[in-house]
Amino acid sequence: MTEAGSPPESATPVHIDTSKASIARVYDAFLGGKDNYEVDRQVFEGVKQAAPEAADLAWDNREFLIRTIRFLASQTDISQFLDCGSGLPTAENTHQVAQRLNPEARVVYVDNDPVVLAHGRALLEENEKTHFSPADIFQPRTILEDPVVNAHIDFSQPLALLQVGTLHHYVGERDPGDIMREYIEALPSGSFVVLSHFYDPRDDDYYTALANRMDDRFTHSPMGSGKFRTEQQIRSMFPGLELVDPGLVRCCDWWPDGPRYKQEPEVSNCIVGAVGRKP
Ligand code: SAM
Repeated sequence: MTEAGSPPESATPVHIDTSKASIARVYDAFLGGKDNYEVDRQVFEGVKQAAPEAADLAWDNREFLIRTIRFLASQTDISQFLDCGSGLPTAENTHQVAQRLNPEARVVYVDNDPVVLAHGRALLEENEKTHFSPADIFQPRTILEDPVVNAHIDFSQPLALLQVGTLHHYVGERDPGDIMREYIEALPSGSFVVLSHFYDPRDDDYYTALANRMDDRFTHSPMGSGKFRTEQQIRSMFPGLELVDPGLVRCCDWWPDGPRYKQEPEVSNCIVGAVGRKP
């Protein structure tokens, strides 16, 4: 699907508005994927003008997701994952990472993007332990009552709830911390929450300026969202949780694969993540 207007590779009839960029397709463009249109690539090019290494923002986020799933699947007893805002299938999706370590792991993906629905769903629903629901992840009640979610996630047992790279795209009226509180209240003790978010360091003029430039490019693009929030605002998205060591840090610093022998790009200072555990 590299040409504007070409149909998704699926028999599912779906209306795709190619005049509007979609979060899932723009993210795919950042990651070097092929499931995007010209309008999506324009957003990527625009952000690159503000930050030439912009693609690393997406890679830091994706690699954080992969490492946190590996951690949960290998170092905890968690075997059910509710992945809110799955994105288009790419290398190493949540179920692949989790099921490689624990073949019994169950994953439910939720995403409301029509291309993810039409084109990615079949790839994400690869086996009987992975399922997909097209719902709004910023409406916790809807997700918590969703029939697909409830058929495959047992809320009486600890689970992992993922909001990775999603809440900076929330443009509604509610405080994102309140949205997370509603989710967290429904989780049993021993559950984990994985969350990453665009970050404005505030106490650093240089990286704040970088964050502001990217924020401006995202917000005034055909995609229309991409908010860089402060540490305090992001911490408020983990209400009642204990943060797993090393806490809320740059995504690239969350248990990296080894010592760093290369310099990280500047944009790495503008995305953070943490894993919280419900006591
Ligand atoms: N979580 C994946 C990752 O970190 O690699 C994908 C992140 S991607 C930046 C954000 C995803 O959230 C997109 O696929 C988008 O379609 C989805 N999304 C955004 N708003 C949503 C909403 N209100 N309901 C469901 N999905 C949403």
